[in-house]
Amino acid sequence: MERFEKPFTRQEPIPEDAIAAAVAVMRSGALHRYGADPSEVAALEAEFAAATDAAHCVAVASGGYAMGCALRALGVGPGDPVLTNAFTLAPVPGAIAALGARPVLVEVTEGLVLDLDDLAAKADRAKVLLLSHMRGHIADMEALVALCAAKGITLVEDCAHTMGAAWAGRPSGRWGRIGCFSTQTYKHLNSGEGGLIVTDDADLAAKMVLMSGSYMLYARNGTAPPETVFARHKAVTPNVSGRMDELRAAILRPQLARLADQVERWNSRYRALEAGFRDAPGLATIPRPQAEAYVGSSIQLRARDPGRVPGFVAGCADRGVDWKWFGAPQAHGFTSAHRHWGYVDPQALPRTDAVLAGLLDMRVPLTFDLDDCAQIARIVREEAAAHLA
Ligand SMILES: *Cc1c(COP(=O)(O)O)cnc(C)c1O
Repeated sequence: MERFEKPFTRQEPIPEDAIAAAVAVMRSGALHRYGADPSEVAALEAEFAAATDAAHCVAVASGGYAMGCALRALGVGPGDPVLTNAFTLAPVPGAIAALGARPVLVEVTEGLVLDLDDLAAKADRAKVLLLSHMRGHIADMEALVALCAAKGITLVEDCAHTMGAAWAGRPSGRWGRIGCFSTQTYKHLNSGEGGLIVTDDADLAAKMVLMSGSYMLYARNGTAPPETVFARHKAVTPNVSGRMDELRAAILRPQLARLADQVERWNSRYRALEAGFRDAPGLATIPRPQAEAYVGSSIQLRARDPGRVPGFVAGCADRGVDWKWFGAPQAHGFTSAHRHWGYVDPQALPRTDAVLAGLLDMRVPLTFDLDDCAQIARIVREEAAAHLA
């Protein structure tokens, strides 16, 4: 029996030009964004704003910080309800709960996107929706934005899994008032930790620059709004330090320049896996809507009989193929289900529970080539035949 030998968590190296840029920053000693002139962070902000066609970008310490900063800038505070996905990862409800606010969880569909019927049913309960494009699946954004507008809900997008993706030609992160991205190692750009926030709203941008900590040097943000805008906020916005530093920006800029190529590489691997999984017994692939331009950095399958998933997962693991199972009773690795979030009020989410019970998730590292994907697919088909047929 063939066995797959490569690790599922191995990253590509940081490109040599990014390493050279990082070494130059270290030689300068100027690692703080407001001590460097010119600043790598400011340049990254301008470049990311241009890449997403946003008026403003704020570079911060993590994706989780980006979401917390966005919610704070919108005035979310203790006790406030915030709508969010029942199917997402812990940083999302965590960003809400860390403000003392209360996540109101919205069901997920079989297509792994926010259930707009459930959103409509719960819309009157909150003024803000923190929408997570979980595992890169994008809801019908025209319909979602129209619903939010009709209900007076402000939309914040968590684009940790959709950097480089789009819906109907508009970049993910640019449908809501604020878009939040992560540059943590397992996302689409790798600076270890890091976050990027985009918005067209000058007041929100100014607040987020001030909040992340600017020591009155806020005009050096790469996409700074005019002084008149800062003047409205600078005396009353608390400092919650969470800036990005020069070193991270130095290694991100060359990666951002290559993002479109990396997206193509992810998608060729995704398509190879998807084609190989398609006729595996007992498993179904997730259909991708026409309007969605996705980034296939992970792939999901639905098992028709959740009770048989543990045997299948163990059979694959014995042959070197790692699945995460969102139906597992305990949270482990990168999986988590809403019932594991002990800091969130327990909520009845029967449709989400039914989807998660059979949901399998695989990372697609760029260190795998197309032959690796074909081999993984062979092993998965054989183990599915053995355990799920
Ligand atoms: C990784 C992740 C984030 C951001 O996480 P950080 O590690 O704080 O950068 C946000 N949402 C989802 C769904 C994620 O997986």
